[in-house]
Amino acid sequence: MSAASAARRARGPEELEIVAFDRGNYTSYSACGIPYFIGNDVTDVDALIARTPEQFARHHGIDARIGHEVLNIDTDRQAVEVRDLRGGAGWWEGFDQLMVATGAVPIRPSLPGADAQGIFGVQTLDDGLAVRAALAQDRPRRVVVVGAGYIGLELAEALCAWGVHVTVIDRGQAPLAALDPDMGGMLVAAMHRFGMTLRLGETVTGFDTAAGKVSAVRTDHVTVPTDLVILGLGVRPNTALAVAAGIPLGPAGGIAVDQRLRTGVEGVWAGGDCVEKFHRVARRPVTLALGTHANKEGRTAGINIGGGYATFPGVLGTAVTKLCDVQVGRTGLGEDEARDAGFDPLCVAVDSTTRAGYYPGAKPIRTKLVAERGTGRLLGAQIVGEEGAAKRIDVLAMALWHDTTVEELLNTDLSYAPPFSPLWDPVLIAARKAWQRVEADRRSTRP
Ligand SMILES: Cc1cc2nc3c(=O)[nH]c(=O)nc-3n(C[C@H](O)[C@H](O)[C@H](O)COP(=O)(O)OP(=O)(O)OC[C@H]3O[C@@H](n4cnc5c(N)ncnc54)[C@H](O)[C@@H]3O)c2cc1C
Repeated sequence: MSAASAARRARGPEELEIVAFDRGNYTSYSACGIPYFIGNDVTDVDALIARTPEQFARHHGIDARIGHEVLNIDTDRQAVEVRDLRGGAGWWEGFDQLMVATGAVPIRPSLPGADAQGIFGVQTLDDGLAVRAALAQDRPRRVVVVGAGYIGLELAEALCAWGVHVTVIDRGQAPLAALDPDMGGMLVAAMHRFGMTLRLGETVTGFDTAAGKVSAVRTDHVTVPTDLVILGLGVRPNTALAVAAGIPLGPAGGIAVDQRLRTGVEGVWAGGDCVEKFHRVARRPVTLALGTHANKEGRTAGINIGGGYATFPGVLGTAVTKLCDVQVGRTGLGEDEARDAGFDPLCVAVDSTTRAGYYPGAKPIRTKLVAERGTGRLLGAQIVGEEGAAKRIDVLAMALWHDTTVEELLNTDLSYAPPFSPLWDPVLIAARKAWQRVEADRRSTRP
C-alpha cells in the first residue's frame, strides 16, 4: 500500500487506476505493533490500522480489496488470476504495471505435533488477535516461546504482562542471533529478573499433545510442560507466486530487484520482505524482513510506477527492539558477519552509563563497534542497555551510511548534558577505544 499511495500521489485517479489485492482481512496495519497489542500496551486493535480499504477508496481513489488471493501471475498476458476468498469464481485482472509485495512466510518446523491446537505463529494481525483471544479465554499458566529472535523476545515480554510463566527456548548460545554473543548478557539477566526461563543450546524436537492440544514442548534435552506455544523461528521471502511466474530470484533467495525496484520482468516491480536488499557494507544482496525497509521500497517503487524517478540505495540492517527494561540496537555487520563478508575486523565493547554517572536514573549501556583492521573504517555497531540506549544506534547507522572511520567518529560533535549522557557519550567512548585498538594494531604490525 506504500507503493499504491506513492503512485497515487504522482498520478491522480483520472490518469491511473490502482487495484490492490490482499488475501488477509486488513490493509496497511502495523505488524510491528502486534506484540504490544498482545501485551496490552495498545488496547485498541484499530489503533494498529493505518488505513482501511474504505479510507483508501474515499481519500485516495485506490481500490484495495481484502479477502482476495492472487493465484497466478501471467507476465505475457499482463494479468493476475484472482479469487475472492468469500466465494465466487476466480477471474483474470489485467495490468499495465504490477507491484509484487507478498511479504514473508514464517518458518514452521515439520516436527511431530506441530499442528496441534495451542501452537501459534505471529505473522499477521489475525494471528495477534488469535493469541490474545487464547490468552483471555484459556488463561494459560505456562507458555513456551520457541526462538529467541526479535519477535520471540517481544512476545515473551508481552506474555509476561498476562502473568504467565514464560520459557524461551533457542538452539543458539545467546539470545537474539542478530547480536554478537558477547552482547547478550544484559538480555539474559533481564529475562531472569522478569521471571522467565531461558533454555539456550536446545533444539526443539517435537510437541506432546493431549486431546489434540499442545501439552509439552520436547527438546533434545528436556520436556517442558506448557499450555500454549508461540513460534518465533524467523521468516523467509514469500516468493512462490513470483517463481511460478518466472520472475527471477537472486542469490539470497528473494526476488531480485534493481535500485528502482524493477524485477527481471518488464513492467513488474517488487518490494518489501519478498525482495532482496543490497547490503551497503557487505556489498551483497541479503534478505531482511524489516518494515522500515519495506515502506521505503514501497515508496520508491510507487514513485517509479507513477512515472517519476526514485532509487532505494540499500540497507545496513539497522534494527532496534526491547525486552522489558533492556533495549537493543544494531547496525551493519557483527563480528562474524564482517569476516564472512571478507573483512578483517577489530572489535571493542565498552560498558558505560546512559546519563552522567552522578545523575539520577543513569543506567548501564554496553556499546560494541566493529572496525576494519588497518583503515579503521566502521563496519558495524551494537548497543544493549536500559532507557535511552537503543536509538543511539541511529548515530552509528548514519556514520556507517557515510563510510566513516572510528577516528572521524570519535570527535563528532554529539550533544552532552548530564540528564542525557556522560560527558563522553557511550558512542564516542566506543569510537575512541576502537581507534586506540586500530592504532595499536597498526603500530604492532608496522615493519
Ligand atoms: C510481530 C512482528 C513484529 C515486527 N516488528 C517490526 C519492527 O519492530 N520493526 C521493523 O522494522 N519490522 C518489524 N516487523 C517486520 C515488518 O512487519 C515487515 O517487514 C513488513 O510488514 C513487511 O512488509 P511487506 O509489505 O513486505 O509484507 P507484509 O506486511 O507481510 O504484507 C504482505 C501482504 O501480502 C499478502 N499476500 C501474500 N501473498 C498473497 C497472495 N498470493 N494474494 C494476495 N495477498 C497476498 C499478505 O496477506 C500480506 O498482507 C515485524 C513483523 C512482525 C510479524
